[in-house]
Amino acid sequence: MSNDFEKNCQDADQLLKRFRNKTLPHFINGKSDVGRSGQTFDNLTPVDNSIIGDIASGNSDDIDAACSSAQAAFGEWKSMPGKERKALLHKVADGIVARARDIALIESYDSGQPVRFMSKAAIRGAANFRFFADMAPTARDGQSLPADEHINYTVRQPIGPVGVITPWNTPFMLSTWKIAPALAAGCTVVHKPAEWSPYTAMMLSEIAHEAGLPDGVLNCVQGLGESAGKALTEHPAIKAIAFVGETTTGSHIMRQGADTLKRVHFELGGKNPVIVFDDADLERALDAVVFMIYSLNGERCTSSSRLLIQESIHEEFTAKLAERVRNLKVGHPLDPATEVGPLVHDRHFKKVCSFFDIATEDGARIAVGGKAAPIDGKGNYVEPTLFVGARNDMRIAQQEIFGPVLTAITFRDEQEAIAIANDIDYGLAGYVWTNDIGRGHRMAHAMDAGMIWVNSENNRHLPAPFGGMKSSGIGRDGGDYSFEFYMETKNICVAMGTHRVPQLGKG
Ligand code: NAD
Repeated sequence: MSNDFEKNCQDADQLLKRFRNKTLPHFINGKSDVGRSGQTFDNLTPVDNSIIGDIASGNSDDIDAACSSAQAAFGEWKSMPGKERKALLHKVADGIVARARDIALIESYDSGQPVRFMSKAAIRGAANFRFFADMAPTARDGQSLPADEHINYTVRQPIGPVGVITPWNTPFMLSTWKIAPALAAGCTVVHKPAEWSPYTAMMLSEIAHEAGLPDGVLNCVQGLGESAGKALTEHPAIKAIAFVGETTTGSHIMRQGADTLKRVHFELGGKNPVIVFDDADLERALDAVVFMIYSLNGERCTSSSRLLIQESIHEEFTAKLAERVRNLKVGHPLDPATEVGPLVHDRHFKKVCSFFDIATEDGARIAVGGKAAPIDGKGNYVEPTLFVGARNDMRIAQQEIFGPVLTAITFRDEQEAIAIANDIDYGLAGYVWTNDIGRGHRMAHAMDAGMIWVNSENNRHLPAPFGGMKSSGIGRDGGDYSFEFYMETKNICVAMGTHRVPQLGKG
C-alpha cells in the first residue's frame, strides 16, 4: 500500500465517521431533517458491499415540505440583485474548494469512482458554480426587437422552484452542473440525488448553507426514484425538472409531470461511437479511445462505448488497444494508482457482467477481460473488457452497458462509418479521428448526436451546449442554454403612440 493510498484510507475513515451506522437525513429549509416516513434504506460501498450507514427514505410528505420551503424562499431569492447572488454563489464555490478533498474521498468510497478522477470532479463542481455565478447579473437580459411603430424587448425571469434529479456516476459534479445555473437564474431548488450515492449531495447543501444561501433556496431530499423522485416530478410548486439518468426513467418523468405541465430537461443514456480512420494520428486516437471508455469505470454518459475502426488499420490498432486494456490498473478507488474501480452497486455489477455471456452468444469475441475480478473475494470489480468481431446489430453494440467495456466494429469507408454510427436509438456524443479536415467536418455534420468531438476526447467548455438527440435527451445545458431552461422569456411591446388602434362600435 503506497503512502498516499494509506493516507486516503485513513482520512476517508475519519470523514465517514459522521455517516457510519447513522441515518443520513434530508436538508430542508436550511436544516437537516430526519423525514416523515420513518423509513430508511442501506447504503453500501462497492469496495466490499459492506453497509456504510442508512439513508432517510423520503416520501411525498418530505417532498412537500421541501417544495413548500423552496416556494417560500423563491420570492426573496428571485428579487435579490444578480450581483448579490453572484457573490453568494462564489462563496459556495469557495466552500467546495475548501472541502474538495473530503468530497473526492467520500465520493470515491461511496460510488467506486477512482479518486484520481473524483479529485478533479470536485474542483469542476466549484468551477461550475463560479462560471454561473459570473453570469447571474446578466441572466435576465433579453433582446431589443424594434418594429415600425412599436418597440419590443424581452426580459427573462426565473421559472420558479425547480426539481433536480441526478444519477450516481460523478454525482457531485453532475449535480452542480444543474444546481449552479438554476440558482444563478434565481430559481430555488429541490434536489433528489441518486439512492446509490447520497452523501456528497448532503455536503453540497451544507456548504451552500454555510456560504449564506437563504434557508429554502437549496433543499435536498434523499430517497428512491419511485417514491421521492416521483413525488418531486408531480409536485405543483415545481415548475421544471432537470433530470440526468436513464432513458426509460426520462419517459416515466415525462408521464409523471404531465398533469402539472412540467418543463423538462433530460440528459439521458448514450452508446457513443468513436470512429478511427486510417489517416488519423493513431497514437493520440488510441489514448483517447482508452480514456473515453475506461476512465470513470466506463460509467459515463459520453463514454465512447462503440469503437468503429477502419478495416485497413483494424489489426494493428486492435492489437495496441488490447495491450493497453490488459495494462489498466483495477483497484481500490482510494488508491491514487487505480485506473478502474469497483462498479457502483451489486445490481449494476451484475448487469455489466451479464454482457460477457451476451457478447459470445451474439457471436462476438472477448479479446480482453470478460470476467468479474473481486479483490480478496469482495467488491464489484470487473476486468476491463474489449469485445472484437462485433456487428452493430448485436446487443453489445446497441445497449448501454455503462461499465469498462468496449465493443469494436470495423468499417470500410466514410459512408459505412456514418451508417453504423447513426444506426442506434441514442444520439448523445460522437468522436471522429482523421487528419483529413474535410472528412472531419463531413462526419461531424452527418452524425446524429448532440455533441461531436473531432480529434479529441470529451473536452467540456462551459459556454458550449451539452446535450443529446434522439433517446439521449431533450434540451441543452451550458452557458446561456441553461438559462433558457431555468427562465421564462417575456416579451414587452410598447407603442410609440403613432399606430392606428382598431376602432369598433363607431358605426
Ligand atoms: P436512473 O434513471 O436509474 O436514476 C437517475 C435518478 O432518477 C436517480 O436519482 C433515481 O432515484 C431517479 N428516478 C428513478 N426513477 C424515477 C422516477 N420514476 N421518477 C423520478 N425520479 C426517478 O439512472 P442511473 O442508473 O442513476 O444513472 C445512469 C444513467 O444516467 C445512464 O443511462 C447514463 O447514461 C445516464 N447519464 C446521462 C448523462 C447525460 O448527460 N446525458 C450524464 C450522466 C448519466
